[in-house]
Amino acid sequence: MDFLEAETDWVNCAAEDLWGVVVAIQANYYWVQPLSQRTYSPAQRSPVAEFGGQAGTHLLCYRRARLRKIGQQVMVGDQVRVEDPDWAGGRGAISAVQPRKTVLDRPPIANVDQVLLMFALAEPDLDPQQLSRFLVKAESTQLEVCLCLNKKDLVSPERQESWRQRLSQWGYHPQIVSVQAEHSLQDLARQLQSHTTVIAGPSGVGKSSLINQLIPYADLRTNTVSGKLGRGRHTTRHVELFELPCGGLLADTPGFNQPDIDLTFVDLGNCFPEIRERLREHHCQFKDCLHRDEPGCAVGRDWERYAFYLDLLEELMAQREAFYQRRDEETNLKIKVGEAGQIQHEPKLQAKKYRRVSRKSQKQALHELRYDLPESIDDLESVDEFEADWH
Ligand code: GDP
Ligand code: ZN
Repeated sequence: MDFLEAETDWVNCAAEDLWGVVVAIQANYYWVQPLSQRTYSPAQRSPVAEFGGQAGTHLLCYRRARLRKIGQQVMVGDQVRVEDPDWAGGRGAISAVQPRKTVLDRPPIANVDQVLLMFALAEPDLDPQQLSRFLVKAESTQLEVCLCLNKKDLVSPERQESWRQRLSQWGYHPQIVSVQAEHSLQDLARQLQSHTTVIAGPSGVGKSSLINQLIPYADLRTNTVSGKLGRGRHTTRHVELFELPCGGLLADTPGFNQPDIDLTFVDLGNCFPEIRERLREHHCQFKDCLHRDEPGCAVGRDWERYAFYLDLLEELMAQREAFYQRRDEETNLKIKVGEAGQIQHEPKLQAKKYRRVSRKSQKQALHELRYDLPESIDDLESVDEFEADWH
């Protein structure tokens, strides 16, 4: 089922059904935010509203045994049906899960539509290579990527403009903001409205400040959740969605400074808007072109991040070589990644103890093996292989 059909289902679901979004998971319990605004008329919303306040609207739910039996997992971001809501006690039971539009691995969240990548213009300094790495990581999710540059109060308007122009060459149109100046966040808030967004970026750039600024009750929510079950002790995965006042959901990702890049060579190219743009107009001569000066390459090298692209490509090649090396250690094949990125298998020499034997006595031993020992055709074949390693 695709998203559009899923949306239609929402409208058709029985009036007495209560649906919500899983915003956090703790041990075997799910915090569900009832989907009031979008799916329910004001009259139907009243049970939620009665217990008012953002914190009060969350229900702590367990998963019905029937769902467990059919192996239906529940993730943060899932849209779920809640049965037997106990508004006073803030409890309920999850009895159904809507088909997911998207599934993000890390952090594990369903139905995310966009990644908001946040960097600071200063403190810490904006490092174009690190930014590129995060951008590639964000692009690799295949979700919409929004870029936000924070702390504009720390740099001159000229510097902001020069970054804006530079990034537009990369294919990005960043929101330049200062989380400390609320009015500068209006466009960004609009971009987040009605979406489920994951924030990513290195630590210290202002991600938590942004969440706290956009969602004044975020802290309150955190306290409420931790107060009830004892966060830290029972939290299995620390992933949490916050509801934006104007609609939409926002999740933080635990800070990481060096996101790992794990892509095929072709997918790496697709993570660069510059390459995508060039390939939209022309094709490279070779389908598996890695855009490294191959004849008839349509991508060329006349773009700023070309060197970053090559660095990442090299990193992926080394990664792949190491992977195959490990995997094939037991087989007697040596793996090399060729010039064009293809995997080559080379016969590997036998262990040292054999090498000490002279070629002549080796041949003699093989001869003896052949005439004294073989009992089946398989044995003969293995002797041939053994011999082949040496010639
Ligand atoms: P996170 O690690 O990305 O969550 O970053 P934080 O939200 O913890 O912010 C790191 C530091 O940057 C804090 O000391 C914030 O007060 C500061 N900060 C956040 N936004 C701004 C801003 O717009 N301008 C300035 N000058 N400092 C900011
Ligand atoms: Zn090419």
